[in-house]
Amino acid sequence: MGDTPIHTRPRERTYSGLDEENQRLFSELSIDDWLAKFGRIYGKRHDKHTTEYMISRLVEEVAELVNPMDSQDKSRIAPNLADVFSWTCSLAFKLDIDLSSLAWQKYGKHAPHPSWSQPNQPSLQEFSMPQTLRDWQELISKVYQEENLRLSPTNSLVAMMKDVGDLAMLNRKRAPIDQITSKLAAIFAWTLTIAQLLQLDLATIVQEKYDDHCPMCGQQICDTDVCHPFKTMYVSFSSQTSDEEKYVILDSAANFGFRTLVNSAVAIESTRDMSASLDLISKSDAACILLHPDASRNADYGQAFETLACYSMLSKGNVWVFGKAETIGLAEYLESTFADEKIQVIAYHDANNLKGLFENCLQTLRLKRSRIAEGEQII
Ligand SMILES: [Zn+2]
Repeated sequence: MGDTPIHTRPRERTYSGLDEENQRLFSELSIDDWLAKFGRIYGKRHDKHTTEYMISRLVEEVAELVNPMDSQDKSRIAPNLADVFSWTCSLAFKLDIDLSSLAWQKYGKHAPHPSWSQPNQPSLQEFSMPQTLRDWQELISKVYQEENLRLSPTNSLVAMMKDVGDLAMLNRKRAPIDQITSKLAAIFAWTLTIAQLLQLDLATIVQEKYDDHCPMCGQQICDTDVCHPFKTMYVSFSSQTSDEEKYVILDSAANFGFRTLVNSAVAIESTRDMSASLDLISKSDAACILLHPDASRNADYGQAFETLACYSMLSKGNVWVFGKAETIGLAEYLESTFADEKIQVIAYHDANNLKGLFENCLQTLRLKRSRIAEGEQII
């Protein structure tokens, strides 16, 4: 986003209360339409996110359902359930999955006949493949009505958490894609089940939260990383970073609400070291790298690699690279060798100076985020 100016413009629509025309339109959307809608809003942003990162965000969204579900607070459950559906769609879009056909195969046409089902359970032949989200919710509630009688919203959530955990595990193990997609279909079915058990209409609650925009920045195509919750920061120290400097970075990051994933004394001795760094970076929303002052050491290839990885996987505005001002080393090497990347190394003199500079960066980001939260929109 860089120096893009921030303008204020009135929101075109409100997010509470849907007019009749709008209601008719969204209630007619097929699953493919919803996928395309979330693909349009978030596809650009998710292009640079790894599947692993997106799954970890889905895990967080599901976890955020626990408290509202405990208190049975529908007004808080609804927007969270909409988020779970949004991330499920975004993942299906990224992985190019035909979610509706998959769910139909798994839960509709070829649904396993449950051993406990009663003879009066509706036969699957009575249904045709659902089109709209409301049709889907109806199908799941009818086909599984016997099972659903035994389910509470809370134990459906537990079952969904298990499937989300399995999804993360299968993806990490690089399991065959059909196992991964099958879990995604299961999460979709649990989302419908929870909505049904709470007598919430999933299509309505998703529309109320997302309408046609990203609810944070209000844009129809969300292309900024600053409007999703910033929680995790990748931090890399060199073997020469002093304890005082380390403390300053970790303390400031914590004060600004970040959880930190620290990779200290990065050295690349095997490909495993590189993938360990990538794993941590792909779980992060921001990064801070304290460069080693001496470019002649083998360890610095690790930090050069990390810097480039952070620049390509995270937004440049969320990556801060610091170098000791007195020494000429890796900073100069990075800036000259990778001129196209426009890597900016911020020079510091001592721990105190580092603290001021880093907190300035974090404050700038915080201001940008709060302006977005207050309803200004980035053009
Ligand atoms: Zn946005």
